[in-house]
Amino acid sequence: MKKPGKKNAKEQAQKVLADTGIQGAPVAVDKIARSFGAVIEVRPLDEQLSGMIFVKDGAPVIGVNALHHPHRQRFTIAHEIGHWVLHRKQLEGVVHVDKTYPMLRRDQESSSGVDLIEIEANAFAAELLMPEALLAGELATPLDIDDEKRLIALSRKYRVSVSAMRFRLLGYFFV
Ligand SMILES: [Zn+2]
Repeated sequence: MKKPGKKNAKEQAQKVLADTGIQGAPVAVDKIARSFGAVIEVRPLDEQLSGMIFVKDGAPVIGVNALHHPHRQRFTIAHEIGHWVLHRKQLEGVVHVDKTYPMLRRDQESSSGVDLIEIEANAFAAELLMPEALLAGELATPLDIDDEKRLIALSRKYRVSVSAMRFRLLGYFFV
């Protein structure tokens, strides 16, 4: 079975950051989406739905759940951009819907092709919003993962959810 290309996903995210000249936090995910000609539609969706992506006239249309926290919306947008960058072929003629918080999908094992692309899109999103190069600077002072105060401060700085930052720092998204 094909293994998820997390390393490639991470490298692709780094390339996007370089191409858009983004070097600091918070990462301007809207600007990145626009650089791909993406249309972002923020609408109230079912609580279970994080977002979706489909292709219209050759450009990506990204749907985001307006009822979710803005930080979560940013992760969703980054995740959908990941699908656009990494899985364009699979998006042809379909609406790709992300039904659960994509980040909380199990990452360690992949039982299907669908899981595979979700793992890759998550790895892409994590690197896009919390670039390793920037985090390395933050971690010059070692971080205690139970240090809620510092975790919250970091997640605010990067405008991601606290759980996304925790997962990131625990190495969940690292290659
Ligand atoms: Zn997805």
